[in-house]
Amino acid sequence: MYVCGITPYDATHLGHAATYLAFDLIHRYRKIQGASVSFVENITDIDEPLLERATRDSVDWRTLASDQIDLYRSDMTALHVLPPQDFVPATSVMDLIDDAITVMDRNGFVYQLDGDLYFDITTFLSDLPLPLPDAITAFSEKGGDPGRVGKKHPLDPILWLSHRDGEPGWESSHGFGRPGWHIECCVIALRYLLGEHYLESTGTGPSIDLQGGGSDLVFPHHFMSAAQGAALLGRPFAKDYVHSGMVGLDGEKMSKSKGNLVFVSTLLSDGVDPVLIRYALLRDHYQSDRMWSADKLSRATEAVTKIRTALAREEVVAVQSTSQAIVNAVANNLDTPAALKALETWAQETLDGNSLVAGGAGELSRLIDALLGLAL
Ligand code: ZN
Repeated sequence: MYVCGITPYDATHLGHAATYLAFDLIHRYRKIQGASVSFVENITDIDEPLLERATRDSVDWRTLASDQIDLYRSDMTALHVLPPQDFVPATSVMDLIDDAITVMDRNGFVYQLDGDLYFDITTFLSDLPLPLPDAITAFSEKGGDPGRVGKKHPLDPILWLSHRDGEPGWESSHGFGRPGWHIECCVIALRYLLGEHYLESTGTGPSIDLQGGGSDLVFPHHFMSAAQGAALLGRPFAKDYVHSGMVGLDGEKMSKSKGNLVFVSTLLSDGVDPVLIRYALLRDHYQSDRMWSADKLSRATEAVTKIRTALAREEVVAVQSTSQAIVNAVANNLDTPAALKALETWAQETLDGNSLVAGGAGELSRLIDALLGLAL
């Protein structure tokens, strides 16, 4: 499983948290099934937004990145997100990116424009997930340069950007510069999931099982990394894609341009119990676009208080059918709203005091901890 990680300049808002919780559920579910899960996540620690923020705040981009990575890790730990086996910064794989571009070039997918290298997307245009004019708009909004004169196609993404004044750069066989965003994820996913010799098995061979991220990554990011992966492998990059919905605030889209991002670290420093943040986010389905509000947190607090009280009781409503309902709900496309509803119903019935039996709360408590990451 490969999940697109953060660009470390304003980690971790609730949209990030919701995304990583969704993949944490998949990770937990597969582990409980007995699978050995290889889970890789990148860190986009070199990209325009990071450099722009560092310039704005007059800090070194490396210091900004490293501080934000530390903050992200501590937020994820607080939210009980199981860490990836490999958490790979883009800046650590420059040699792999160099090699991949060489192979893509040999396969006929690379061209040069004033010293910059572009990926020729034409072969993959029939797979575009949205109409071309919309794709061009989305590409432009998410860091692409559809209007640059001299490109073969407006949607061709940058692979290697030659050095610009005042920016960091790396030596490579394609000149001094830095990589584009999509090639980074493509190469990290393939190298860390398929092994160091992945470039040697073109044609038949494995693909990665799953690429994941927020639904804002469907296009261009996942489309582009899939195209580049296919150009390298001569076969599909990933078998499946999973995307989580977006989180808004009080009826509005949450975005850095609106300045209305809610950060996990802010909630934590305000004294919010992290399990309540996790619980509140799991009350909505991972694929749904949803709104965050203070009210969500108070309703989660109410529910968690009841559940904790019920779990502490010696005599509770028998847990078997509730446990089964929770497992079934999670197995059904991670239906956490249904799982938590079953749990809340059990808690209410236990507190109501009808048909109680001795014991069983411990078993239920261990199940929700393992499956849902809720240590209550
Ligand atoms: Zn990515």
